[in-house]
Amino acid sequence: MSGRVLFEENDHKIVLFEELTPASAVQANQYLIVHKGEAMLLDPGGHKVFSQLQRDISRFFPPSQIKYIFLSHQDPDVVASINGWLLTTNAQALISRLWIRFLPHFGLDSQLENRVIPIEDRGMRVKLGDCELIILPAHFLHSPGNFQVYDPCSKTLFSGDLGASLGSPYVFVEDFDAHLRYMEPFHKRYMASRKVMNLWADMVSELDIEMIAPQHGAVFKGKGMVERFINWARELPCGVDLMDEGVYSIPGG
Ligand code: FE
Repeated sequence: MSGRVLFEENDHKIVLFEELTPASAVQANQYLIVHKGEAMLLDPGGHKVFSQLQRDISRFFPPSQIKYIFLSHQDPDVVASINGWLLTTNAQALISRLWIRFLPHFGLDSQLENRVIPIEDRGMRVKLGDCELIILPAHFLHSPGNFQVYDPCSKTLFSGDLGASLGSPYVFVEDFDAHLRYMEPFHKRYMASRKVMNLWADMVSELDIEMIAPQHGAVFKGKGMVERFINWARELPCGVDLMDEGVYSIPGG
């Protein structure tokens, strides 16, 4: 059984499911936001977590009544189970317009396609009851059509692959400097460039954030830790910044 309540106040709840991924697959977090009888599931993951995730969610909310399924981008650890989720709920799935026509390749039935809502590049807002969630653009961090969710009711930013760590043996980051070794190699290789990191940092600095919850690894909790992450991300050379002739050379035989 997994499911850790990260926030609970005034009929608003955030639940993290972090233990469902099989050992050979990259660890992935699934999150559930519940507000006054309505719920959003974020980045539900692949086939191997589908049944157990349904069972574990049912301890907190009837999975068949989920209203929105948010897909931060097109990767298999985010999207692969989408057909099962749309079959077993009446939910609408939200994903960047860039990826709409790729979803049938994950086995999405044609009669379910009309429940996938394209998100335009500028993002959008959706409501769970009277709580309005903001879907923020985060393109090229890492996917070209990429979004994050800001939940103002818990002051949580669900940051997708940004802030992800691989192999960190804890749920909350306690020591930011020690955490870098789990986080830095991934960001340098997957995130597109310092320019977009900078744009992102400026955008989210306008929000009141108490928690950053990435799709892999540990969660950043508290204003101090959130600020440290944003400041680190803002200046990180990554992606195309680090590509040169050394990388772009014909491999030897
Ligand atoms: Fe990804």
